[in-house]
Amino acid sequence: MNVEQVYKDANALLDGHFLLASGNHSSQYLQSAKVMEYPHKASQLTNALASMIRDAQIEVDTICAPALGGVLTGYELARSLQVRSIFVEKKEGGMQLRRGFTVSKGERIIICEDIITTGGSALKAFDAIEALGGKVVAFASLANRGFCKRIKGASTSKSECALPKDIPLFALDDFSFEMYAPKDCPLCKAGHSPAIKPGSQG
Ligand code: ZN
Repeated sequence: MNVEQVYKDANALLDGHFLLASGNHSSQYLQSAKVMEYPHKASQLTNALASMIRDAQIEVDTICAPALGGVLTGYELARSLQVRSIFVEKKEGGMQLRRGFTVSKGERIIICEDIITTGGSALKAFDAIEALGGKVVAFASLANRGFCKRIKGASTSKSECALPKDIPLFALDDFSFEMYAPKDCPLCKAGHSPAIKPGSQG
């Protein structure tokens, strides 16, 4: 599967001048909500992700996603793997299970995101699950921004990667876009219109 083409076809690989959550600027942005817009396409992506997880013989009971970004991907991946789907939500700098969701001792859980950048939200979900006695057996995402080393990926783990090194990361593809500190941004220097936030914050 050509994941970059799937993103392009869904108008989910944006070109422009973007302000990222990290404060850096970039000329490209992945709008994963757009590739989840059509459920039949979404399930093709999560079926491919599920195949990678099965091939690695990872045994899983439940998918857990950090809300809001990972919820649709997590739900579809749970359908692909025929397991339970739950999500954690932001609480006082961390994440927590709400809405009556529970985790049993030793329950095998995959933390699922739409995109793994440095893995900050996924790590908060990991902390919430492990505090309840769950066992995180893998991380999974549609796209990997190239900071964390994924199974079958070419990139090595960079210092920005927040994920535990001893737990595998599955993703369909690596997207290693250039990022710039605002003072070094070539788009700003070229007099481009101001950087915009295309995600949930803008
Ligand atoms: Zn800029």
